[in-house]
Amino acid sequence: MLKTLRGIVQEVNTAGDLKSALDIIVHRVREAMATQVCSVYLWEPESSQYVLMATEGLKQDAIGRVRMGSAQGLVGLVGVREEPINLDDAPEHSNYQYFPETGEEQFHSFLGVPIIHHRRVLGVLVVQQQDRRRFDEGEEAFLVTMSAQLAGVIIHAEATGKINELNKAEKGKPSKVKKDQQFKGSAGAPGIAIGQAVVMIRTADLDSVPSKTINDIDAEKRVFQQAVDAVRHDIRSAGEKLADQLRPEEQALFDVYLSMLDDEALGAEVNTLIDGGEWAQGALSKVIKQYEQHFSMMDDPYLRERVTDIRDMGIRLLERMQSVKIDPIEYPNDVILVGEEITPTMLAEVPKGKLQGIVSVEGSSNSHVAILARAMGIPTIMGVQGLPYAKLDGKKIIIDGYRGKVFTLFPDSLLTQYQSIVEEEKELVRELDTLKNLPCETKDHHRMKLWVNTGLMADVFRSLDRGAEGVGLYRTEVPFMIKDRFPTEKEQMHTYREQLKAFAPSPVTMRTLDIGGDKELSYFPIKEDNPFLGWRGIRITLDHPEIFLVQVRAMMKASEGLNNLRIMLPMISGTGEVEEAMRLIHRAFYEVCEEGFHVAMPEVGVMIEVPAAVYQTRELAQMVDFISVGSNDLTQYILAVDRNNARVADLYHSYHPAVLQALKKIAEDALMEDVSLSICGELAGDPIAAPILLAMGYEILSMNSASLPKVKYVVRNITYAWAQALLARVMISDSPEVIHSIIELALEEAGILSFIRPQTGIMSTKAN
Ligand code: PEP
Ligand code: MG
Repeated sequence: MLKTLRGIVQEVNTAGDLKSALDIIVHRVREAMATQVCSVYLWEPESSQYVLMATEGLKQDAIGRVRMGSAQGLVGLVGVREEPINLDDAPEHSNYQYFPETGEEQFHSFLGVPIIHHRRVLGVLVVQQQDRRRFDEGEEAFLVTMSAQLAGVIIHAEATGKINELNKAEKGKPSKVKKDQQFKGSAGAPGIAIGQAVVMIRTADLDSVPSKTINDIDAEKRVFQQAVDAVRHDIRSAGEKLADQLRPEEQALFDVYLSMLDDEALGAEVNTLIDGGEWAQGALSKVIKQYEQHFSMMDDPYLRERVTDIRDMGIRLLERMQSVKIDPIEYPNDVILVGEEITPTMLAEVPKGKLQGIVSVEGSSNSHVAILARAMGIPTIMGVQGLPYAKLDGKKIIIDGYRGKVFTLFPDSLLTQYQSIVEEEKELVRELDTLKNLPCETKDHHRMKLWVNTGLMADVFRSLDRGAEGVGLYRTEVPFMIKDRFPTEKEQMHTYREQLKAFAPSPVTMRTLDIGGDKELSYFPIKEDNPFLGWRGIRITLDHPEIFLVQVRAMMKASEGLNNLRIMLPMISGTGEVEEAMRLIHRAFYEVCEEGFHVAMPEVGVMIEVPAAVYQTRELAQMVDFISVGSNDLTQYILAVDRNNARVADLYHSYHPAVLQALKKIAEDALMEDVSLSICGELAGDPIAAPILLAMGYEILSMNSASLPKVKYVVRNITYAWAQALLARVMISDSPEVIHSIIELALEEAGILSFIRPQTGIMSTKAN
């Protein structure tokens, strides 16, 4: 069965469109199950009906004509019940409905299974037979498995707009217009953008290049080399165009692209195939496909994402070789770039000042394009599966980079709402700007420190602009991620010094390399079945003391004369790791002093991100100078919910009572050990959370700089006593939603909510 199933899936994947995919399915399933009928009915939201889309065994004329409302007929019943219905004599069933145009009166047995994607019923897959017999368990399991595969094919067809085309073809008339349409992706960079979609569609098609044998090897190599030179030039100039918006280290991303073209990398493999007699285009297509296959099989999401870069590179080279004439794109003033895979070079093609937002169907917040977008402050949504991007060109769309939503059709009221949010945000920024130089303290003079999280230098400039008093988390993996090899001690020292200098004399908390989980380096692949519970953060760097020592030495050397460095250890799950890390840190300190640098021993702290560390807060606190809670990972590990998995995103809730109890316990234990306490996950930047974190005893909130003014506004307008009373009410509730509402309501009653609403009103109650 499995073999047959695989065969069908492979064949379906080669289908050029949904219609052929459905035809293959009905044909092959009927054959594999030796039944007389196999049909697919798809749910048509515009008419709220199931429509017969493909069949083998029923009359072909019935396609597009047989329609059933929800719960109507056996097909409707399968849809409502969301489970298979297996009958030996269908006409006997009370829900049976006879459609004369199908010629189905001769069939008695019926097995229908729903086609479901993310709880949404997309359609029903049906087999029928003349004999009166129940289909056996094996047959039922086969059909259920088939329908799960079919769901993916349908979702993809929806995304590319092929479902609508199919409907139109069947009915001969356009489908009714929907009033609103929204799609969910993941937030790549925060902010709201309203603008005109410019769809990036690639003209060259790597998949349709035929294999061809040639004799003139040198001529083919020249064709390839010319393409490489031209693409190299394009990428260089793309990097240069963004030069004034990005720091050199961020521009290094383009070097990663350029290095792929190197003679010893992709280029060498293409030339080897040309040597074997393949023409240049064929050789390129084969090499890119091999790379794609290799990378897409990797479990590690960061490496999987490099497929995008490789494919982009391949298409660019092919376009050059085929001398594809690309019409220059007319960019309006409010461009929202939309495409299956938006790449860094595409960003650079948009004239300066016109790019308002980015929507990419593929990719995640780890993608290079998302990293760049965050650095440039461009609202971005990644991984918007199901988006019919091909049909959006020229359309006005709204993107909500806080919640990861794209609105492609919307009522005027929603547009007005978002327009006012944009305006209010601008207004708020202006108003909150006046807070910049005021202290962050409550009305009863309880002081709180607001620090920022940084990664790229662009974050630093924005942070200073907003009155940040220090850096609570500098994610050092970011400069590592945008390189194609480990940065040297000198390079690291240079990067770190820029950060330390920008903030001096305020403290800068540098976290040691926190890779693993979802953050990978292309040049240090880690392949694991369960990366979030695997080799991550401190576990990697303790196993590679050479990486750890180089990094810590670079940090210390960078701090010479500034002495504002704090070193922070990620993913600590026990005291042994801290002991080991402290030993290495002391060793690095002596080495740096021996080399003649005059530096002070930095403060060292640990992150509490793992439940084990919550219960050992006191022991850990005794070993270090400060404790900082990573609420993103802590939420993930306490609730056992992958922070990047859209399927379980609804379960990821930093206001979950279990998370709040952990936060409170950490604060109480840290207080007993008299150690400095901060929190640096997304929760720290949520103004709604500020009162309860204050009341729990968190002294430092470290956040994205954009959140800083609003959090400061909240703190300055409440009293410590008020926050404590609120915390007491919150801690006796057992529901994350209720907790969130209690705080919102209290802020509203205190007249504070309207000042933070534009952001919080549209932000989910979940961190991350
Ligand atoms: C966290 O886990 O809360 C955190 C700040 O670290 P990161 O998001 O980089 O894993
Ligand atoms: Mg973390």
